Amino acid sequence: MGLYDKFTPYIHYREHVQASGLCPFGTCIDEIYSATEGRIGHQKIILAGTNNYLGLTFNPQAIASGQAALASQGTGTTGSRMANGSYGTHLALEQDLATFFNRPTAIVFSTGYTANLGIISTLADHDAIVLLDADCHASIYDACTLGGADIIRFRHNDARDLERRMLRLGARAREAIIIVEGIYSMLGDVAPLVDIADVKRRLGGYLIVDEAHSFGVMGHTGRGLAEALGVEQDVDIITGTFSKSLASVGGFAVGSLEMEALRYSSRPYIFTASPSPSTIASVRSSLRTISQHPALRETLWENARRLYQGLEKLGYTLGPNISPVVPVVMGSTEEGLRFWRNLIEKHVYVNLVLPPATPAGKTLLRCSVSAAHSKAQIDTIIEAFAALKR
Ligand code: PMP
Repeated sequence: MGLYDKFTPYIHYREHVQASGLCPFGTCIDEIYSATEGRIGHQKIILAGTNNYLGLTFNPQAIASGQAALASQGTGTTGSRMANGSYGTHLALEQDLATFFNRPTAIVFSTGYTANLGIISTLADHDAIVLLDADCHASIYDACTLGGADIIRFRHNDARDLERRMLRLGARAREAIIIVEGIYSMLGDVAPLVDIADVKRRLGGYLIVDEAHSFGVMGHTGRGLAEALGVEQDVDIITGTFSKSLASVGGFAVGSLEMEALRYSSRPYIFTASPSPSTIASVRSSLRTISQHPALRETLWENARRLYQGLEKLGYTLGPNISPVVPVVMGSTEEGLRFWRNLIEKHVYVNLVLPPATPAGKTLLRCSVSAAHSKAQIDTIIEAFAALKR
């Protein structure tokens, strides 16, 4: 058996898709013009499939801060946080995040994926029990596998199912780790965090919330779903990413001072290079922008409402609630592929997401909204979907 033989079915599928036109897997955006516009091949496109929720990728202050750090601190740290990769600015960003979240400490990681890996794999070791929402992100599943914990999946967004499973654990529930997300990235739905926090209060355990898609998007100050629902004190650790609202790359966790111990035991923290100085500088700048410009969040939600209601009026099947993530449910993979290509012809780029990356085996055209979209751009996206209905 050859080294790559097991991939033959995927290669054939990809070739089959490519033979009939543009391929949706790893699509190259040939040029990027702004937070909302780019070019694929000869088509100028509106970017409606990013995680650029606040539209800060081209924010002038973030760019200037990144450029200044590039010039003064160089292109990269060339080392891990543990060795030579913790600069003053990495620590300053940790302080910024701790202050923003009003928590004793924050730890910066190289990506959101490694933030989950670094925190969860270290806590969820062989002796631990993890109860996780069935729809949790791959990084959370991978973290549990790396740590070696016993994994118990509960039904997506079902606090009663969580409670049932915790009751079965008896006294062990008191040490269990519960993991959920804020906004779920595929359907745009949110965790029933009030009910989950209530279960934790009654039965014990520790609660970790990945606010990757809700940070900057929800809550009075943008801290996420836990802030929006007033249950921050019930959440032990919040993890998140710099690759969505913060418009860069990297990840973080905020929690109690005891979390500091993980810096000396977390392999995904210790054995990978730290984010570059320019990355850290642009993130610090965008965090300030999030604090100082709450109106960005209002614009984001206005745009989300406009897109959701526009597509709903056309009769499309969407996610359960209005959210910056607007999934359009397709009847089949073939229909999804046809729609995805036709949307590009109409200058609109969304993400085609196929099972097993999607819940319940659905094929989705995952649209996402940015505060940087103009009303005219949102209407163009709706019009493109309308033309496909006709
Ligand atoms: N958590 C969730 C819920 C995510 O959706 C993602 C990325 N899409 C991550 C973590 C990983 O973040 P990053 O891209 O920074 O690695």
